Amino acid sequence: MSVEAKYKRVVLKLSGEALSGGSGFGINPDKMKAIAKELKEVHDLGVQIAIVVGGGNIWRGHTGEEMGMERAQADYMGMLATIMNALGLQDVLENIGVPTRVQTAIEMREVAEPYIRRKAERHLEKDRVVIFAGGTGNPYFSTDTAAALRAAEIDADVILMAKNGVDGVYSADPQKDASAEKYSDLTHLDIISKGLQVMDTTASSLSMDNDIPLVVFDLNQPGNIRRVVLGEEIGTTIRGEE
Ligand code: UDP
Repeated sequence: MSVEAKYKRVVLKLSGEALSGGSGFGINPDKMKAIAKELKEVHDLGVQIAIVVGGGNIWRGHTGEEMGMERAQADYMGMLATIMNALGLQDVLENIGVPTRVQTAIEMREVAEPYIRRKAERHLEKDRVVIFAGGTGNPYFSTDTAAALRAAEIDADVILMAKNGVDGVYSADPQKDASAEKYSDLTHLDIISKGLQVMDTTASSLSMDNDIPLVVFDLNQPGNIRRVVLGEEIGTTIRGEE
């Protein structure tokens, strides 16, 4: 390791939207390749990377619910969407020589391994990027919650919350309110009590209860994943109470 990374084991939360390249829908191959290239740079630092991938670029449970579908059924569709994204991400990473394993929270043995915590840890120790797909495997949850859950389970040093075009947590929506201020440090309790838009409250509570730090940063600036991993203070860091 030529440069010292701040974190040894990270969970990166990639929303489905991040893979859509701005359109919000579907998979943009160029965007996906660009993310893979950035991940390779971080992998080359010797950092162990687990990725929790979302599915909102293909399907969200509440879209189905709005259409009159049963919520659980619509959520299972969302979980399947995350698996499609995971397979795409695996492909681009392996194409540039990064070894990966996909583990799914819903069994799909023909295409990926089932989620087995100890096996995931073993892959990470062997420098394989592990992509966690299928969220938590349960309806009524989100992939943000899956990120907090997996981070706790594999004892990750940090959750990297990649945002699209927002470089941290603000006091108000910076696109609507010119007086909105960016926070550099917050606590999990601040997020919950101030109702700040970072992750849903289930995910925030889980991160708080298990004392998992979170860094919120802008994925759209090339090189940012590496910057965060090296400890540059470019986004907002969220920790437990002192
Ligand atoms: N989902 C779920 N349980 C989980 C994770 C995800 O039911 O543990 C469903 C839910 O319907 C959600 C969809 O999968 O809307 C896509 O996940 P998410 O919205 O978290 O993706 P992102 O917004 O990160 O792209």
